[in-house]
Amino acid sequence: MQNTSEIPHLVERHQDDLIGLADRVWGMPETLYAEWQSCAEHAAMLRAKGFRITENVAGLPTAVMGEAGNGGPVIAILGEYDALPGLSQVAGIDYRQEVEAGGNGHGCGHNLLGSAAMLAACAVKDWLEATGTPGRVRYYGCPAEEGGAAKTFMVRDGAFDDVDAAITWHPSCFTRVDDPLALANTRMDFTFTGRAAHAAASPHLGRSALDAVELMSVGVNYMREHMVQDARIHYAYLDAGGKAPNVVQSTARVRYSIRALKLADMLALVERVRKVAEGAALMTETTVEARVFTAVSNHLENLTMDRAMQAALDELGGVPFDEEDRAYARRIQATLSAQDIATEWAIVAREPEPGVELCDWVVPMRPGGEVLIGSTDVGDVTWKVPTTEVLVATCAIGTPFHSWQLTAQGKSGIAHKGMVHAAKAMGRVAQMLLADPALLAEAKAEHARRLEKTPYICPLPADLPAPILPRP
Ligand SMILES: [Zn+2]
Repeated sequence: MQNTSEIPHLVERHQDDLIGLADRVWGMPETLYAEWQSCAEHAAMLRAKGFRITENVAGLPTAVMGEAGNGGPVIAILGEYDALPGLSQVAGIDYRQEVEAGGNGHGCGHNLLGSAAMLAACAVKDWLEATGTPGRVRYYGCPAEEGGAAKTFMVRDGAFDDVDAAITWHPSCFTRVDDPLALANTRMDFTFTGRAAHAAASPHLGRSALDAVELMSVGVNYMREHMVQDARIHYAYLDAGGKAPNVVQSTARVRYSIRALKLADMLALVERVRKVAEGAALMTETTVEARVFTAVSNHLENLTMDRAMQAALDELGGVPFDEEDRAYARRIQATLSAQDIATEWAIVAREPEPGVELCDWVVPMRPGGEVLIGSTDVGDVTWKVPTTEVLVATCAIGTPFHSWQLTAQGKSGIAHKGMVHAAKAMGRVAQMLLADPALLAEAKAEHARRLEKTPYICPLPADLPAPILPRP
């Protein structure tokens, strides 16, 4: 058992069970720390596959971890299973139709994300057993990626302390090693408290919390001219104080999302926004309480890990889509604009190719295309241990994520083939790291070198609890 085809073969042994799991999770879309059923399904599958289970990982009731193997290094394979609100959609069709009006849906493909990660772990578990190689593989079922920053809390609270390297993936339009780019992001709530008064009879007695929020926005908007280029700041009113204009609003709350490409830049911006809030309170004779909701770090690159992933992808080749997949992808593409499709091609530095609906090849590493950068809690894991993330084609080229079109494709042959392919790539990298101590040592040395230059500062306050929900 030393040839490079063994991991793909071992993946295939478990693929039907894990495709079944992905489809079940698709059918029970749960969001933000409410992934009760999805987490239970993942725990049950880990148990059925013979993993040693830890529930309530880092105190998060919808997180689960399964471990197999003995001694040696620990390789973590990270999965997710949270859905998004408002993206309920019937599977397998090419028009908008909700399963449940206003319901949740798997519009980011996390039903596949968790199942493929566990599928990879199953194959590595079999390989460890068959070869007697010392080492452990862990599947981490991580909740609340969408806005809940579960992995950041898990890193802060020690869930990855004894891990040597981490591997993850995300569904995508193209198959490629992910660029090491993600924005550090702090979500913070500012609650202003003033004094209510009759707005006509005794306005001089009122101190408006709503005025304070508006002045804070003005201050932050003036700040924009003097920020680093890649910073992003957005805000939403959580509570405008009331609906009656004849009452001076005594409370108001706004949520800010403060992002930058470098963790240190983001932390500096957070302090400046805090000062603007305090200034707004001073101007209006109100008080302000600032509270971090969640926060995530940017992505710390690990070239050693990414090169190993590229090698695994090159060995495997592209996802083997068939004619039925292409026909469905064409129908989905007919619902997209030419700009949707061109934007996706630009990410891999190519012009749209008419007649190419699905990516059945491997994009070269760091293609140098347009960058569209979001934020993810994988960022904090990249700072904790050497990490690589692969993107694998699971949908028609041009499909926007967080859309009904993505939910619709979530149980298709396209999604299933992409998911199995992702498991093969991740399993192969885990095998490379376990079989080759020099490779793992190189990845760890690179990680240490990068941290020496810029140490990790957890963006979460030490005492901030995760916004978990009570068990129903
Ligand atoms: Zn996602």
